[in-house]
Amino acid sequence: MIRVTVWNEYYHENPRYEHATTKAMELHPNGLHETVAEIVRELGADKVTVRTAWQDQPEHGLTEEVLSNTDVLIWWGHMKHHEVADEIVERVYNRVMEGMGFIGLHSAHHSKVFKKLNGTTCNLKWRDGTYERVFTTCPSHPIARGIPEHFELGVEECYGEFFDIAKPDDVVFQGWFDIGEVFRSGCTFTRGYGKIFYFQPGHETNLAFQNPYVRRIIQNAVEWCYSDVKAPYIGAPQIKTTLEDQRLEKAEGDYLRFF
Ligand code: ZN
Repeated sequence: MIRVTVWNEYYHENPRYEHATTKAMELHPNGLHETVAEIVRELGADKVTVRTAWQDQPEHGLTEEVLSNTDVLIWWGHMKHHEVADEIVERVYNRVMEGMGFIGLHSAHHSKVFKKLNGTTCNLKWRDGTYERVFTTCPSHPIARGIPEHFELGVEECYGEFFDIAKPDDVVFQGWFDIGEVFRSGCTFTRGYGKIFYFQPGHETNLAFQNPYVRRIIQNAVEWCYSDVKAPYIGAPQIKTTLEDQRLEKAEGDYLRFF
């Protein structure tokens, strides 16, 4: 069972905020977190349990208890990245190091968590209202299962290179935009024991989350990002290994038996 938490800043489509837009509220009547949670739930109740959390909740909905019971965290944020408390960022970062999967969607590229995981600015070029075609550039990757060599995404916000990220493990998808830009739209990374996937489509007023291939990619990514590492995280504090002593004792025993 994969325990998924879908996190959202819950701003553009939240009627509590005067900056909320009609289009975003229409597209995500129960919040963008519910839009994405619904996609993940399609994996089936025998495979996933899904909960949601958002920024205005105490501790941004990401308490120690929630995170220690999360195998894969999906993140959508845009305007309020700077209001995410550093303490929570640290908590999420540490859980990724311990093996929690992390999926950053669309403008999550500028979230504090994603920037910390990359160690770079994660800046990019952008323009709204362009047309995007997505190419599969790593067809053998598990996240590309069931995805054709390219598909038409339609109207989507253009994200362009140079995208200032750490060198990805794999660039699974690449976007082409009708204004001439290209972008590494689907990238994987490994940090500590955690597997990370960044995926560019998903602007709040466009239809990306209704695209069947986008939905399949998010579902594939949830399965790929899951890991059940049993080893204690070796990062900080560092732990003393006993394995070498055991190997030496065994080798010595084998040697003495030989004579
Ligand atoms: Zn956007």
